[in-house]
Amino acid sequence: MKVGFPRAVYYYDYFPFWAGFFESLNLELVASPLTNRRIMESGLKKASDETCLPIKILAGHIQALKDVDALFLPRMVSTEEQTYLCPKLLGLPESIFPAVPQGMPVLTVNFNRRLGKRRLLAELEHFGASLGKSRVEVHRAFELGGEWQERFEKSRLKGLSFAESMEEFDPVVRPKRRKAEEGSQNLASATVRGKEPPAREGQGAEVTGREVTEQEVVGRGGSDRGVAEREVVGREVTERKVVGGEVTNRKVAGREAAGREPTGNTPEERKEPSLTIALVGHSYLTQETYANLNLLGRLQSQATVRLVEEVEAGRIAEGLRSQRKALFWSHARKILGAGSFFSRGDEVDGIIYLSCFGCGTDSITQDLLARVARREHKPYMVLTLDEHSGEAGLVTRLEAFLDMTERRVRRESDVSAHG
Ligand code: SF4
Repeated sequence: MKVGFPRAVYYYDYFPFWAGFFESLNLELVASPLTNRRIMESGLKKASDETCLPIKILAGHIQALKDVDALFLPRMVSTEEQTYLCPKLLGLPESIFPAVPQGMPVLTVNFNRRLGKRRLLAELEHFGASLGKSRVEVHRAFELGGEWQERFEKSRLKGLSFAESMEEFDPVVRPKRRKAEEGSQNLASATVRGKEPPAREGQGAEVTGREVTEQEVVGRGGSDRGVAEREVVGREVTERKVVGGEVTNRKVAGREAAGREPTGNTPEERKEPSLTIALVGHSYLTQETYANLNLLGRLQSQATVRLVEEVEAGRIAEGLRSQRKALFWSHARKILGAGSFFSRGDEVDGIIYLSCFGCGTDSITQDLLARVARREHKPYMVLTLDEHSGEAGLVTRLEAFLDMTERRVRRESDVSAHG
């Protein structure tokens, strides 16, 4: 049985647990492709206008899961003691049903650690039984899921990137580059039959700076079938399609082009970072390259970047100590705790809070963190994303913030951090 998992919201924090759980039960769990324009647009059509951007992206990923026997949409209620996930996640899967393709079976289970391990296991046993698995098999799966999740979180704490930490759990991430290289060779041989001259051996990334970042099969079949790839040369991104021997090239700009990782080839990317900036926010926004217009990549090309996932639990608790009341939501708790920790001390020179329109918890957390940052005289900026966010606005704000922070840190420490 092949089960689909949308590469959105809880994918970024809890996929390793579910990957281990399903692996142990001998069921194949596959994630949807990386976000692209098609996924975003289909999500916007199916999700409610009032909801937040990550839920709209989730709706798109649900529709992108093809060739699976069922869809897995767990109801993640609580993953640690005394906290809950956001109400919009508690409302899944029912609130997202309009996006589920007709006839697609949906598997779901309540994951609620607040009820204690015994009751959580009872829920999972019930779920396992519906898949024909025994109690013992479910307990074993729970253990393996826990081990995989712990390994993933430890890698993040050690400062490994999300992709590096996820490599062993998401089969798409690891072979992506290899597949892209193979795809590039296939495309080269396809173009021999088309209109372009054959690529010579050695005319690869080393010679031209060409990098293939995405490659996929397009079309429904027969002469309609072909290959599409995204090619990066320097700062230019081109989408190339070979269908029925015909080659078409299209320059990609704006949000579409933002999906690429920094190549390290441009002078801008080679610059030695002199600043350290904390990028705080939900992992499904900071790591969602398409939706955030590659903010993390852009930032990493100009500064050393620290993230919420790299901050240990003890430091998060320390960061939260000045709050008069504990926060209910686990993500908000981590963001505020890590952000407060970064605000104090000299580990980072400035903080960027990446938020999105329609996020209820961020509307509180970003203001609480602004107060801490102001008190600690730490430069602080909030970037709010939605599906219409443009590249120009983001780059301008980012450049201005980095300039201000650099000037303040290096030369004029009396420059106000908050305007
Ligand atoms: S925490 Fe915010 S961004 Fe995340 S699902 Fe809830 S409302 Fe959306």
